[in-house]
Amino acid sequence: MNKEVLDGLFRPKSVAVIGASATPGKIGYSVVESLNNGKYEGAIYPINLKADEILGHKAYPSILDLEGKVDLAVITVPAKLVLSAVEECGKAGVKGVSIITSGFGEVGDHETENAIVETAHRHGMRVLGPNIIGSLSNSGKLNASFAPMLPLPGDASLISQSGALLIALDAGTYLRGVGFDKLFSLGNMSDVDFADIIEWLDTDEHTKCTALYIEGLKDGRRFLEVSKKTNKPIIALKSGVSAHGAAAAASHTGSLAGAAKVYGAAFEQAGIIQATDLNNLFDLTQAFELQPPMKGDHLLIVTNGGGVGVLATDAAERFGIPLEFCPPELQAEMKNYMPEFGSAKNPVDITGGAGLEGYRKCIAFGLQQDWVHGLAVLYCETAVTNPDEIAQGILEAIREAKATPAGKDKPVVISFIGGTRCAKAMRYLIDNGIPAYDDPARAVNAIAGLRQFARLQEAKANAKDEKPFAADRNAALEIIKAARADGRDALTEIEAKQVFGIYGLDVTSTLLAKTEDEAVALANKVGYPIVMKIVSPDILHKSDAGGVKVNIKDDASTREWFAKIMANAKAYKADANIHGVAIQEMAPLGTEVILGSINDASFGPTVMFGLGGIFVEVLKDVTFAVTPVSKEQGLKMQSEIRGAKILAGARGEKPRDQEAMAETIARYSNMILDLQDEIKESDANPVMVYEAGNGLKVVDARIILKNK
Ligand code: ADP
Ligand code: MG
Repeated sequence: MNKEVLDGLFRPKSVAVIGASATPGKIGYSVVESLNNGKYEGAIYPINLKADEILGHKAYPSILDLEGKVDLAVITVPAKLVLSAVEECGKAGVKGVSIITSGFGEVGDHETENAIVETAHRHGMRVLGPNIIGSLSNSGKLNASFAPMLPLPGDASLISQSGALLIALDAGTYLRGVGFDKLFSLGNMSDVDFADIIEWLDTDEHTKCTALYIEGLKDGRRFLEVSKKTNKPIIALKSGVSAHGAAAAASHTGSLAGAAKVYGAAFEQAGIIQATDLNNLFDLTQAFELQPPMKGDHLLIVTNGGGVGVLATDAAERFGIPLEFCPPELQAEMKNYMPEFGSAKNPVDITGGAGLEGYRKCIAFGLQQDWVHGLAVLYCETAVTNPDEIAQGILEAIREAKATPAGKDKPVVISFIGGTRCAKAMRYLIDNGIPAYDDPARAVNAIAGLRQFARLQEAKANAKDEKPFAADRNAALEIIKAARADGRDALTEIEAKQVFGIYGLDVTSTLLAKTEDEAVALANKVGYPIVMKIVSPDILHKSDAGGVKVNIKDDASTREWFAKIMANAKAYKADANIHGVAIQEMAPLGTEVILGSINDASFGPTVMFGLGGIFVEVLKDVTFAVTPVSKEQGLKMQSEIRGAKILAGARGEKPRDQEAMAETIARYSNMILDLQDEIKESDANPVMVYEAGNGLKVVDARIILKNK
């Protein structure tokens, strides 16, 4: 990243509007008007061939008349004139161009879009857009867009791939009470992308956290790296996670939308909090900009209504911070703050009869307790209380408690349930720095986000450096080269196992027999019982072809099955290229799991893990991670699937060798990363995993090569 150039783009000292217009209704008019309305303090230069003056600013016929004077050029001219405008900007020494004009990559014209970026880079400029609404900054008093207003001021920033959505959300900030310092529209992301801005915002003193609206990433790996590095919270809403939605997103911005599960995994690996919808994006952003992360698991809920307390409790479990009962001494003290029929367990139900005093005392006491890591205060509007007074009293109690060392770093969220009086009281709380939501589940969801962030930060800080695995890459490349020379894009199981073996995976020993006699000789070498399998690059699913026989115990059966398997294969596919039959060590039965890899369009090589058989085929109970995957992450992946208990030891069964499995995942990750230029996809299906201490065996291996 070139910080100075991006400063020019996002914190410009002067702005030119190329295609500025004196005609209301034109984009070139709106942008100048926006700059005026935002009270921009730098110089504004409208560029227009004919006009002398536009909206109070002297106009210039060409950007070339302003050589060396312009940081940011906002381009609004028709698509066919953009490339030459960019060239002129470059000659005039502009730092960055923000191209509002549409009609490039998103309608298939990648050629012009690429030429624009090339031209900009040749002059040392960066490009925001094209196909955007522009960018906005409260601290910079800069509305370099055609959005009518700067957002409600705040400490968050928002980056949106969709411009239309950004305008809508901009106006919505006032309604929601969620403030932002900067808004960025990315559009086609021809040059400046999420990663560039996240990196730049890392040093922006006006941005505490960043919200993202993502349709698809072009360079997912860089996005991951940059997001991992920043310690500022990032909340991301990814659209296009359904199959049809993915297709819609791809046609919308012309970029590829990756598989939903891969995005989820990548976000988590990068320490990003994933939002589920627009409301959730704002809810989380509000929590992050107003409150600190939650540094432990104990959430205290104080409520005047039992029902909302239970709803909040359900939500806490759903969002990953299940409630615990308060320790007895806490309960004993809080019992003093409520009527006899209240409950101090957690949720702490001070009941409708407790009034403001009950809230004040529970808040003051609760936030002082080491046991408490975060607080949710719930209030149901009642006939005998006034929401305004409750809000004021709660706010005071929170402020007092937060002014003490014990209460300082603990997040608080609030939910008022009621009518317009409650809505007004909540706005008062929000404006005073306390996130407030009209549903207890939303409040709990928000504070759960603060907890999740702290957990991810801890995991980042505690990640151990693992020793890299050594492997003879050239030996693996030789095997691949030989298969390619043979005109194939798939390795046979035997070849794939050789490659797996080079990378330290524990595979069954496998030899190739071309004749019945050879089969018998090799069977005796391997030792009975054996497994026999068809070896053909044209038959990838061997069982389907009647090409697998397990548990063969003697020479006579070996002969019989050699003939049968060869005949089955020919019947299955008459023109199949058959190498022979594999004679394979028979692995004892274990828990069958699957390990796989696909090359994701955005994130590159990924590892997939799940239980084998119907768990993967019917239930799709699998989890993903973006490579490199450490052993530690390998352990985590095993705990992420729904069938995790089967591996951890369920119903009196001994636990499986999860350590060995974790190492296998890490070694497999190392292999697909090391050979990413060669391997398109691969899997080990199944891997037999044995009891803890007894390791595992890869009994089937598949590698499909990239087209070259
Ligand atoms: P494919 O997936 O091409 O049909 P596999 O090699 O996976 O063929 O074999 C099918 C099944 O046979 C496996 O899922 C596994 O249950 C069993 N199997 C295969 N190889 C072995 C082996 N070496 N030891 C024990 N069981 C095996
Ligand atoms: Mg298989």
